[in-house]
Amino acid sequence: MKNFNPADNIQDLQYFGEFGGVNPSISDSSTYTFLSAKTMFDTFEGNMEGCYLYSRHSSPSNLYLDKALAAMEGTETANVSASGMGAITPTLLQLCGSGDHIVSSRTIYGGTYAFLKNFTPRLGIKTTFVDITKLEVVEAAITAETKVLYCETVSNPLLEVADIEGLSKIAKRHNLKLVVDNTFSPLSVSPAKLGADIVIHSLTKYINGSSDTVGGVTCASQEFIDSLKNVNSGASMLLGPTMDSLRSASVMKNLRTLHIRMKQHSHNAMYLAERFEKDEIKTVYPGLKSHPSHEIYKSMINPEYGFGGMMTLDVGTLVKANALMELMQAKNLGYLAVSLGFYKTLFSAPGTSTSSEIPLEEQIEMGLTDGLIRFSIGLDNDIERTYQSMKVCMMELNLLK
Ligand SMILES: *Cc1c(COP(=O)(O)O)cnc(C)c1O
Repeated sequence: MKNFNPADNIQDLQYFGEFGGVNPSISDSSTYTFLSAKTMFDTFEGNMEGCYLYSRHSSPSNLYLDKALAAMEGTETANVSASGMGAITPTLLQLCGSGDHIVSSRTIYGGTYAFLKNFTPRLGIKTTFVDITKLEVVEAAITAETKVLYCETVSNPLLEVADIEGLSKIAKRHNLKLVVDNTFSPLSVSPAKLGADIVIHSLTKYINGSSDTVGGVTCASQEFIDSLKNVNSGASMLLGPTMDSLRSASVMKNLRTLHIRMKQHSHNAMYLAERFEKDEIKTVYPGLKSHPSHEIYKSMINPEYGFGGMMTLDVGTLVKANALMELMQAKNLGYLAVSLGFYKTLFSAPGTSTSSEIPLEEQIEMGLTDGLIRFSIGLDNDIERTYQSMKVCMMELNLLK
């Protein structure tokens, strides 16, 4: 574990392209020829390594990205998909069928929450949502039908941290699969090394980092990925959320600078969180000692990548939050937009956007207040300059003395 460094694993991958290029050639075919009919049959059966059949199943470019992401998470292999939801939904449907039960964190991505709350019950799959930071509550929710324990390493938008080692012990005791969405904390946390069975990312966010595509990945054992891609029964193969080769080649190029970007995102977010906390704005950042998950997060991270780029500020009311966001955008401090991991800061009010799938009563119960602004802090070179400009906006709106 201590010698596991995800960025080194990405750096150490070596490529000799088809024509000697330092990047692999991009595969540009949906179907592949065979010189013998027997080889085609064997490939269909999944027995021919290095042979390709049809690009919904796999393509050379996607396999390169699979391999790089598996190296990053320390899993046997991986399977990329057209979006984060295109990784999450087939993974859960592969693990659960009618009559099965999932225990999930209640503070998860809005789309995943809606899938488990509104969609999977149609298929006879039930979910109990729990406060994932309370291990005894998690364990008490497990029934004889439970198959999956689901959480995000760092949850959206309140940045609660899941104790992955603790959850993994519970999962093993009850013979469940622990599925962890690690979108908010790539490199910082390596969930598979802490006992997670399956690690998922929305590549749309930090890993691609350019806000120019959606993408996803499931990192897991060869056995599980083979089951996802099985031509007769695999949820990824049959539901078809396939990533395009051109996109996977471009995501892979961006992945190579992820370590440099994560360090800068973390540095900038820490800087702003410390300043705004001192200014007596209600600040939530897992790098702050005041954060309820600070100690557990500190014990889990690969420290050089820091506590990540996500931070929230609570300015009291939705009206004030909206006014501040509009002013910050007008002053070019970032964009009023959902999503995260971009080079510029992105901000939104989660109650009325990314978490709006969560009913109001539940939002209140989990501490998702009206005046909350979620920030994905950018790669700003001079973060003191940014802080000063943000402060001017806050003073203009009387949010600061
Ligand atoms: C964005 C996001 C997703 C969904 O990913 P898409 O690429 O938008 O489909 C899932 N989980 C988390 C934590 C996210 O932030």
